[in-house]
Amino acid sequence: MAKKKKRLRTDRLILVIIGLVVVIGLVIGGIFLLKDHKKRNTDTALDASNNQETETKTGIEALYYYEPENQARYEAYQALHPELAEEDVVWMVNVHLDEEPYTNLQVIPESEENNEVLLVNKHYCYRDEFEPAELVETQNGKLVTPNTKTAYEKMVADAKAEGITGISAASTYRSIDYQVGLYNRYVERDGAEAADTYSSRPASSEHHTGRTIDLMGPDGTLESFESTKACTWVHANAYKYGFIIRYEQGYEDITGYQYEPWHITYVGVEASTTMHDEGIHTLEEYYAKYVQHQPTQS
Ligand SMILES: [Zn+2]
Repeated sequence: MAKKKKRLRTDRLILVIIGLVVVIGLVIGGIFLLKDHKKRNTDTALDASNNQETETKTGIEALYYYEPENQARYEAYQALHPELAEEDVVWMVNVHLDEEPYTNLQVIPESEENNEVLLVNKHYCYRDEFEPAELVETQNGKLVTPNTKTAYEKMVADAKAEGITGISAASTYRSIDYQVGLYNRYVERDGAEAADTYSSRPASSEHHTGRTIDLMGPDGTLESFESTKACTWVHANAYKYGFIIRYEQGYEDITGYQYEPWHITYVGVEASTTMHDEGIHTLEEYYAKYVQHQPTQS
């Protein structure tokens, strides 16, 4: 009997010990779980603050062509054009598209007048005395720069080899003096506002560069070029020779000109290929993203 009682007491003791061990285990486990939970909460909080940091960096300030001094103009232009993406607002302001045409003309420095890529428009112009460094005649006697001539004649020859004839230069280089007379005649006829949509003011014409060619159609007019096979071919292939269609359809607000399917400009193969590959349709955008600033190599 006494033996039985003793065994019973031992059993109870063992049960108590097991019970204690279980309770201690639960308590310790609980503490760990709590700690882990807390840690996870802190991690999430850290993640959130990291994200916030990344967010500020992916704003317009993170764009490689962002210019801090233009911040107020970016905001003003964005407010005026809520439909524009903010990354577009930045490059547009950088090339002065937020300013009224011809109001704050940037004169191309003499040292840059013969650069491969030249932006000449209603915001960028030449000094009045500008002349291209060298002009040569194309086969039909039109004046262009030597590089333009080489590229143009190769393009015409390659087109011909593919059965495309009828690529023919009408207007190429024009002196600033000549443009003075031309523009004034247009203004007299149609008024300045209308004339500005299709003609450049002197020193702001791309034709001064000697790198621009207006192609004509079979009846000798520029307008008839658009409906030709030559036009289709040129629009698809010109970039391979360093030419761009300078005033594309749908980009009038950027170029400042109506669609001119006949007006091609030599910018060099590097620029024309980049524009083609990156889907850049205006020289304004290319100039802002590849000349004013260069993309960082990744
Ligand atoms: Zn033209």
